[in-house]
Amino acid sequence: MATAAKDRLVTKIHDKWYDLTDFEKIHPGGPVALGLASGRDGTVMFESHHPFTHRKILDAILQKYELDEESSRHLKTLEEQHGIAEHRFNWKSEFGDALKFHVKEYFEAEAKRRNVSLVAATKAPPERWFEIAVLGVIFFATLVSFIRGDWISLFTCPLGVWVFGVNTFHDAAHFALHKNWRVNCTVPYLFPHFSSPFVWYHQHNIGHHSYPNVAHRDPDLVHHYWMKREHKSVKWLPAHEKQRNLSFLVFWWTVAVEFGLATMEDLWMVMYNVYNESVPMKVISKKRLLCHVIGRVFTIGGIHVWPFFVFDTWTRSIIFATIPYLWFSFLFMMNTQINHLTPETAHEADQDWYKHQVITAQDFGVASRFCFLMSGGLNYQVVHHLFPTVNHCHLVKLQPIVARLCEKHGVEYKQVAGYAAAIKAHHAHTVNMSFKDNEN
Ligand SMILES: [Zn+2]
Repeated sequence: MATAAKDRLVTKIHDKWYDLTDFEKIHPGGPVALGLASGRDGTVMFESHHPFTHRKILDAILQKYELDEESSRHLKTLEEQHGIAEHRFNWKSEFGDALKFHVKEYFEAEAKRRNVSLVAATKAPPERWFEIAVLGVIFFATLVSFIRGDWISLFTCPLGVWVFGVNTFHDAAHFALHKNWRVNCTVPYLFPHFSSPFVWYHQHNIGHHSYPNVAHRDPDLVHHYWMKREHKSVKWLPAHEKQRNLSFLVFWWTVAVEFGLATMEDLWMVMYNVYNESVPMKVISKKRLLCHVIGRVFTIGGIHVWPFFVFDTWTRSIIFATIPYLWFSFLFMMNTQINHLTPETAHEADQDWYKHQVITAQDFGVASRFCFLMSGGLNYQVVHHLFPTVNHCHLVKLQPIVARLCEKHGVEYKQVAGYAAAIKAHHAHTVNMSFKDNEN
């Protein structure tokens, strides 16, 4: 049976429409990655997900599936349907070409050395899998202690799940863990307390990574914006004055995942088919929606309910049902908010997508193994944004290449010493945004 027109996988790339329905089954990156572009302007994802594929191959595939004028005249992107402002980048970039050339050169040498394909060379090598396995064992050790009700596990177990998760979930969701897309699409479901993978793709891959710090396109600028202001494009409210206090930041970080990312923002997205007023969602079937809701209820409910069936005292049950997720949220926010929301990066912009990725991000502790493992490589934020499908373990080697090219092309590369400096910069930004005169 032919696929109904509304169910076809159409996308707009560089102002031309393509029907990729028949390509879905043979797309090397798998149907999930391709599906992210469905119905929307997929230009940024197309460019950022194929940095090492020969242009002639990409053009030949696109040409095969291009829709003619007559078939595409009536089509509207999801962004247009939701009234979300268009944002265009300039893709003719000498800087971008140099980056792709030199990074590809590095992976070609790696592929030859390891006797693997170029794509496999960009994913997790055996030593990274070993590292992940060790982190997994440490996490399960803390989990045993947690289920036993040891007080110390209130601290160690969320820390264990954060470090194990951030070193796997993030790469998997970027299709950067393994060359087999099925591995990448399964692993995020092992960490549903981070976020529903479905929502994460919208918030992180489609929204944030394509348009970092772009007003009305990056959903990370408008998380509960009536309580905390992150960008000049957000209208100032008297409520924002309280974000000057460090204690408010601590409170915010403690509750953000539980009450924002994992629940309310998830719920709003599936109710209104748009994430944080920035990333439109293609309508899903009722069956899929039901699976999603059951998954969220099971995950969030499970986290909070199990202690009441295990422990004898109410005090221990209440503490084990509440504290761990708050501490996990703190760790999540401490590692994710310090990379783009600083005085030097928050309001930067460039028409050149590659330059834009560099100047809107900040690295921290690039020489520190502790910073790398604790943040799952988020401390190499600049390179990650330029090459999101590359496993974080390679960013250590790519960072000097990127830093050198930034210097050569006059692009400002920002990095600070470590966690303390990065948190300080984020707090300074938070304070700046609390003042009314910092308005667009
Ligand atoms: Zn990312």
